[in-house]
Order: sequence, then C-alpha cells, then structure tokens
Amino acid sequence: FVTQAKYNRVMLKISGEALMGDQGFGLHPPTVQRIAEEVKSVHDMGVEICMVIGGGNIFRGLQGSAQGMERTTADYMGMLATVMNALGMQSALEELGVFTRVISAIPMDQVCEPYIRRRAVRHLEKKRVCIFAAGTGNPYFTTDTAAALRASEMACEAIFMGKQVDGIYDSDPKTNPDAKRFDRITYNEVLTKNLKVMDASAIALTRDNNMPLIVFSLDEPGGFRGILAGEGTYTKVM
Ligand code: UDP
Repeated sequence: FVTQAKYNRVMLKISGEALMGDQGFGLHPPTVQRIAEEVKSVHDMGVEICMVIGGGNIFRGLQGSAQGMERTTADYMGMLATVMNALGMQSALEELGVFTRVISAIPMDQVCEPYIRRRAVRHLEKKRVCIFAAGTGNPYFTTDTAAALRASEMACEAIFMGKQVDGIYDSDPKTNPDAKRFDRITYNEVLTKNLKVMDASAIALTRDNNMPLIVFSLDEPGGFRGILAGEGTYTKVM
C-alpha cells in the first residue's frame, strides 16, 4: 500500500536555524539527519522535491551590516552559509540513498552545480532532490524569495514552509495560549496583518505567481509526509 501524494512536485523551504538543533549555531548532524529522513519519506511517495535552506544558523547579512560590515559583502557571506547547509543536507540525504544535487545561484563548480534551469528540471524528472543554494545570488534578498522564485521556475505546485509551529497564528502560540491558527489565509491578509511567515517581497512573489504556500510543523515526526498525503494541521496561504 503506497500512500498517494496530493502533489507531484513541491518546494520545501526551511530556515537555517532548523538545522542547528539545540546548539544555537551551525549544523547539528542528528537534526540534519532527522530532516533528511522526513524528506526521504516524501521522496519515497514519488514526489519530486526542491529544497531551499536558509543560512541564519551561520550568518545573516543584516546582522553583519548592523555590526558595521558592508551590507552586500555581508549578504554574500550569508549566501555562502546557505551553500554549507545545502552540502550538509545533501550528505545526509545521500547517506539515506536519495540522489541529490546542490545547485548554486553563484557558480562554484568544484563544490556543486551552477544553476541552469533546464538542467535542474531534468534532475527533478529523474527524481533527484534539488537543493537550491546561495539564495537568488543577489544581495538584499532572502532565501524566502529564493524559494518563491525557484518554485515558480521549477513549476512546483506549492511551497511547503517547514516551521517549528503547525501554521500561521494571529499571535505567537509559544507565548500566547489563546493564539488562533488560521486554516486558510490570503497573501494580502498576511501582508496587511504583517504576519511573520516570509518577508514581504517573497509573499508578493508567491501571490503574483499564484503559488500556494503551506506552513506546517517540521518538528512533528512524519509531519511532512502527512501534509503531502492531506493529513495534519497546517495553514494554507493562497
Ligand atoms: N541572502 C542574500 N540573497 C539571497 C538569499 C540570502 O543576500 O537571495 C543572504 C542574506 O544576507 C541572508 C542570508 O543570506 O541574511 C541567509 O539567508 P536567510 O536569512 O534567508 O536565512 P534563514 O533566515 O532562512 O535561515
């Protein structure tokens, strides 16, 4: 019996912080392995998977520039951090037997592939997980925007945002016990209510390209697979 997935091709966006476990910095290999297992379980359903991983567990451009570093240089450092995370995830996935390509917006041929759209599509068709690294390749952007951009370019059916909470709430559920989760919400409501889901330019890009966004908890074991099979709690932005 094979659980039927409701999607054929998806984008999974996770923050860099999702990889650091309780360490407060960097990559925590057991945490990376756990997320790789979640990805494998969806890959086993026959779903074509794109991934974008942030870099905030290593370096954030804004923080660097707040401490006096030149902003664009700091942003390039942030983009390089995402390449490290992508390589860590690739290693964990391939350990599980899932063929994976790291595809960087900034060419670094000895380390990973450069981004060539048609080539990336071909990898997906061959059921290789594609991890898009180095964000959009441009400073002043975020990996949320990169996820929105690559999801559209790869014709993904939806972006799945793996968070530490099971959706979008009207206030922080970790501090407010009365916080209410939205089942569905529009892009414009996310923008006008200033809900912290993605940054505004990423939300606008998903809206303008009619790319549904599903916010779910990656902390729930089996959660990603469950959501793909149409189970569990989440918030759908559309
Ligand atoms: N970044 C960038 N352009 C991009 C994507 C990322 O300049 O297209 C830089 C930016 O400095 C950002 C850092 O990379 O702070 C890490 O990415 P992000 O903050 O999105 O990571 P996350 O918060 O998802 O871990």
